[in-house]
Amino acid sequence: MSKGKIAVISGFSGAGKGTVVRTLLEKYDHYALSVSMTTRSPRDGEVHGRDYYFVSHEEFRDAIDRGGFLEYAYYEGSSNNYGTPKAFVEENLKNDRHVILEIEVQGGAQVKAVYPDTVSIFIVPPSAAELVRRLVDRPDQSIDFDTVQKRLRTALRESADIGRYDAMLINDTGKAEECADAIEYICETGDTSGHAPDLTFVEKFKAELEAIIERREKERN
Ligand code: 5GP
Repeated sequence: MSKGKIAVISGFSGAGKGTVVRTLLEKYDHYALSVSMTTRSPRDGEVHGRDYYFVSHEEFRDAIDRGGFLEYAYYEGSSNNYGTPKAFVEENLKNDRHVILEIEVQGGAQVKAVYPDTVSIFIVPPSAAELVRRLVDRPDQSIDFDTVQKRLRTALRESADIGRYDAMLINDTGKAEECADAIEYICETGDTSGHAPDLTFVEKFKAELEAIIERREKERN
C-alpha cells in the first residue's frame, strides 16, 4: 500500500498559505503540489503550469468526459471552473509522496470519497486585523480598496466552513515552518487530534472581521 496521503489545504486569500506550502515543499522532498485546471483567466503574475493550467471551456469539458479529474467544481455557464487532474495525484501517491491539493471544502469532500484517509487542513492568520495587514502589505502586488473588501467578505463566508476540516493551523507571524512541520506530522501519522478546529477562535475571528469590514465601509464614505 502507498505511504502517500492526500492533504487538502485551504485558507483565506492573503493568509500566508502559500508561504506554508512553499516551506513544506522546500523542507521535505516527499511532497508533490497538485496544479489545478481552471477556465478562469490568469491574474497578474500567475503562470500557466505553475499556478494553474489555464484552459478553454472545451478543454475542461473534454477532461471531464475522459474522466481526467479526481474532483472538479463545474458551474454551467461560469468561467470559474476548477478541477484536480487525476493522473498527477495517482502517480505521486504510487511513488509514496504526499500530495497537496489547494482546493476548497466541497472538492475536498469529493476527494475523501475516493481516498478516505485524505486529511483536510485549514490555515488561518492569528487575527482578522493581521489578515487585513497581510492583504494590504503584499510586497508583490498592490491591491485596491474594493479588492481588499471583496477578499475580506470571501474570508468571512469561508470561515463558516472551518469546522468541517480535520485540522486548523494558526499561521502566526514567523511560524510558517511550525505550520509546515504540523502538516508533515499529520500526513505521516494521520493524527489530527491535537489540531482540531478551534471554534471559539473562529467565532471571535468572524466577529472581528465583520467589524473591520463595516468600519472600512464607513471610512470609505
Ligand atoms: P482562485 O480563483 O482565487 O485561485 O480560487 C478560487 C477557489 O477555487 C479557491 O477556494 C481555491 O481553493 C479553489 N480551487 C482551486 N483549484 C481547485 C480545484 O482543482 N478544485 C476545486 N474544487 N477547487 C479549487
